[in-house]
Amino acid sequence: MSDVEHTLSIIKPDAVERNLEKNIKKIFFDKGFKIVNEKKIQIEKNEAERFYKVHETKPFYNDLCSYLSSGPIIVMVLEKKNAVLDNRKLMGATNPKDADEGTIRAKYGISIDKNSVHGSDSVENAKIEIDFFFKD
Ligand code: UDP
Ligand code: MG
Repeated sequence: MSDVEHTLSIIKPDAVERNLEKNIKKIFFDKGFKIVNEKKIQIEKNEAERFYKVHETKPFYNDLCSYLSSGPIIVMVLEKKNAVLDNRKLMGATNPKDADEGTIRAKYGISIDKNSVHGSDSVENAKIEIDFFFKD
């Protein structure tokens, strides 16, 4: 039986800017995630708007999309058994103040908006998000 999953992870601009790529990848490796695809890119604001469309009615939508497109990001496909949920656990809560000790956001997040990483929230959304960045 195989329940190996893939999930999309993004190292956001605040973390790339602080040179945290290696540290964050080490956390993933140590927890048994494999990076099976990755690229460093900078996206346009309209691409960020498409990526975060689910949040388009939220008050933070405009700032969120400006922010995600404000600098280089690293998008990665992570592979592991239960990758989607395990990555969410490893990331910690959206607001770094609420994130459990040892999580990526507790360690590196600056604020609710500059929270260092993105991770897909369901297997279904992981497929959509991986296609968004990696379908050619
Ligand atoms: N966000 C924000 N203000 C909020 C809630 C969310 O700036 O009040 C940003 C934050 O960067 C978060 C992203 O919007 O990571 C997407 O929000 P979501 O609720 O999906 O959180 P996540 O899945 O990233 O934990
Ligand atoms: Mg989310």
